[in-house]
Amino acid sequence: MSFWISPACHGCGACVPACPRGAIHPSKGYLASFEIASVDCNDCTKCAIVCPVDAIGPDPDWAVCRGRGCPLTGRRLSGWACSEAGARCEHCGGSLWKAPDADHWICARCDATTRVACPKIRKHLADRPAL
Ligand code: SF4
Ligand code: SF4
Repeated sequence: MSFWISPACHGCGACVPACPRGAIHPSKGYLASFEIASVDCNDCTKCAIVCPVDAIGPDPDWAVCRGRGCPLTGRRLSGWACSEAGARCEHCGGSLWKAPDADHWICARCDATTRVACPKIRKHLADRPAL
């Protein structure tokens, strides 16, 4: 999932420094003063906690990150780390994962041993306009 900012936002900006992912930016739309980059949000809830008007909540249109629906929460990939969109595959744009005790990151979509895509990245790539 990602978090989402509703029109109740009054633009105080308190959520911006609270986000450890740097995912909150001034809005280009008209609904709220700020918006969350869904693919960068890791659902930590820190922004929602500091918002004085309860304008931030889960966005049901986005796949969960590190929760229900994330392949890394399954038994097969238990203990793997995720780049959480901080670094992406240079070929497909997918998120990078690292096996326990491994010293390098792999692309979960391109690597022959995983062949699983982060549902959030999958949605992000599917939503991109065709070139
Ligand atoms: S839930 Fe966490 S990662 Fe997502 S926008 Fe809020 S503070 Fe940032
Ligand atoms: S903390 Fe709440 S009211 Fe303030 S900018 Fe963020 S979403 Fe808007």
